[in-house]
Amino acid sequence: MQLYQQQQIKIHNSLTGKKEIFKPINEGHIGMYVCGPTVYSNVHLGNVRTFMSFDMIFRYLKHLGYKVRYVRNITDAGHLENDADTGEDKITKKARLEQIEPMEVVQRYTVDFHNILNTFNFLPPSIEPTATGHIIEQIELIKTIIDNGFAYEVNGSVYFDVHKFNKSHEYGKLSKRKLDDLIHNTRALDGQSDKKNPQDFALWKKAEPQHIMRWPSPWSDGFPGWHLECTAMSTKYLGEQFDIHGGGMDLKFPHHECEIAQNEAAIGKSPVNYWMHANMLELNGQRMSKTTGNTVNPDELLSGNNKFFSKAYAPSVIRFFIAQSSYRSVLDLTDEGLLASEKGFFRLMDAINLLETLKASDKSTIDIQAWKKACYDAMNDDFNSPILIAHLFDAAKYINQVKEGQASVTSEDLKVLAETINTFTFDILGLENVTKKESGTDKLSGAVDLLIKLRQEARANKDFALSDKIRDELAEVGIQLKDGKEGTTFSVN
Ligand SMILES: [Zn+2]
Repeated sequence: MQLYQQQQIKIHNSLTGKKEIFKPINEGHIGMYVCGPTVYSNVHLGNVRTFMSFDMIFRYLKHLGYKVRYVRNITDAGHLENDADTGEDKITKKARLEQIEPMEVVQRYTVDFHNILNTFNFLPPSIEPTATGHIIEQIELIKTIIDNGFAYEVNGSVYFDVHKFNKSHEYGKLSKRKLDDLIHNTRALDGQSDKKNPQDFALWKKAEPQHIMRWPSPWSDGFPGWHLECTAMSTKYLGEQFDIHGGGMDLKFPHHECEIAQNEAAIGKSPVNYWMHANMLELNGQRMSKTTGNTVNPDELLSGNNKFFSKAYAPSVIRFFIAQSSYRSVLDLTDEGLLASEKGFFRLMDAINLLETLKASDKSTIDIQAWKKACYDAMNDDFNSPILIAHLFDAAKYINQVKEGQASVTSEDLKVLAETINTFTFDILGLENVTKKESGTDKLSGAVDLLIKLRQEARANKDFALSDKIRDELAEVGIQLKDGKEGTTFSVN
């Protein structure tokens, strides 16, 4: 019997706007597709948050015993500036600016992307296909859409006919946009465009002579439209219909809307049962943006080399901070928030590291099975990691109480407690058990430990004035000493 047979997951489905009971198409198997990065610059921290949310979801589904095929693509064919159908290809532009081959740009930033994800302890997806590796599939898909009457060719480029599609299908159902409103809110074509209507989008673009990334096709030497690759690759690896499609909120329209339209136009089926969207990451209450300078990249956050944060943060602390909000909430990255998360993170690690030293009793003072169930219930409720973390903190408190003799646990319960807290903390939240020492706060620990030793000596010599002075003056600078059965520990407030 697999765990998933005992756990019922509910997922907030962006398509219906409701939390729905999750039922995979094939029992025990899950197909999940997440739109990957465009590799023309260093990965954005907001994207890291999105991929981290799906990494946690992937980890939980695997933990439940599902066989998950997780596909996350690499967009290396480039797409056009402004995600529109005009302008210069982003990868070509970067290559021109840096005077290198487009594939050098792709290689450099793919390596950067993987390095950052490794630093944050991501699991690799099952398949990481590239757009350039699937040009043939994309050309075949365009042919089918043309044959079905939903695309047209003009001057070597092929466009998806949104107006015609909308007559027999519903364009805009994911983003809850009506075509009439879109028409009303879009500027009319300026006569330069080959498109019939401004809402139509490119499936194939004829390459200008200076465009380096180009492939032969029945229509022209050119390159595929950006929306197409995800349809081609998700269909190839997950089938015409699959379970979960994820991505950042900013991809809902037009990208995911266009994916649905392409699938329905080519295959006649809506591709995805559960659409999931991770929300935005803000910096100090404002949208991150390169133009306003309100932005920090993952490297700068990890090294502390930036103007927003007081110090460097360990990757697991950042991961913990991100997991303390639901993937569906806007998350505000602040120094205050990270400091609070860091404190909580070490509190949790300290408790976990105490587990091995706990002594079992003949009765438990808390209901461990109920606590364990609450952890699963939190994750089953649309992967509610902040609630899960609240339960992990409850366990940390309990561990400390057992350690101090204020609570007790049976050996059987202790085993369940240790197994469950380790599983959720490390396997599912993907945190790593770094101690304060490894994270660079060891110097402070060393100094405080020395003062604790001096205080013990003072007490042994009955010099209570000195021992109190050490305790009180440490408290004044925010370091709290705590006397317990196993000696004195400290916490930083
Ligand atoms: Zn995509």
